[in-house]
Amino acid sequence: MNIAEALALARQLISAAEARLLLGHVLGRNSAWIEAHRDDALGETDARDFAALVARRAAGEPVAYLLGSREFYGRDFKVSPAVLIPRPDTELLVELALAALAGQPSPRVLDLGTGSGCIAITLALERPDARLTAVDAAAAALAVASQNAAAFQASVRCLEGEWFAPVGGERFDLIVSNPPYVAAGDRHLGEGDLRFEPLSALASGADGLDDIRCIVAAAPAHLESGGCLLLEHGYDQAAAVVAMLSASGFRDVASHPDLAGIPRVTGGRLVR
Ligand code: GLN
Repeated sequence: MNIAEALALARQLISAAEARLLLGHVLGRNSAWIEAHRDDALGETDARDFAALVARRAAGEPVAYLLGSREFYGRDFKVSPAVLIPRPDTELLVELALAALAGQPSPRVLDLGTGSGCIAITLALERPDARLTAVDAAAAALAVASQNAAAFQASVRCLEGEWFAPVGGERFDLIVSNPPYVAAGDRHLGEGDLRFEPLSALASGADGLDDIRCIVAAAPAHLESGGCLLLEHGYDQAAAVVAMLSASGFRDVASHPDLAGIPRVTGGRLVR
């Protein structure tokens, strides 16, 4: 069998782009190389490995988990089923965080529920003077974050625990989080990639706001005066998060639209 024939077989089950990505993964090549070598013969082991990946993808497993990586803010992060797959929308949170940190030398930044570490590591790499702390309650997720930090030589302190538990009496200039925010009964949890992602990284109580309530309530005690809190949230949660931040004493509370124009990140500044 040659590459063109293997791709044609895969095409009966999955998209052409995904077939190229998966075959490229097996062969250690990119999609452009695959296209340029359509007439090359495919070894028996490679053909079998490719067929296995195609079958898993056809059964719904996310491409990111099959490849073991996902691009975020221009860098390839290792991912496993222990972590949420980085989403392009979360780059908005990174951009707002960088804007909030502009002009602040050596800021202390806390990322709650870091997962793959994509937010904390990106901030550490974009702002080498920042002092990053990344927290996650799941040891398996934190291990992925630590591996990513090491791979990028990013200086990030990784701590295991629930939300603020591991940072006791510490205060930060900026707290960011992409917490779980999907309502427990949301049908999306049973569809697409979400079926394979950790439920603990996705679902958060009846209205999806349990963890955000918890973070907003505890954040003021962990922010310096003038410090910011930035939270990613669901498509219909902006008004609720604005109300929570305002009630907790945050100023300049504002929501920011994602790539689809939906308010996706809400933040505010704490002034004492
Ligand atoms: N944005 C994700 C989704 O709806 C959810 C991520 C999260 O809960 N933090 O697919």
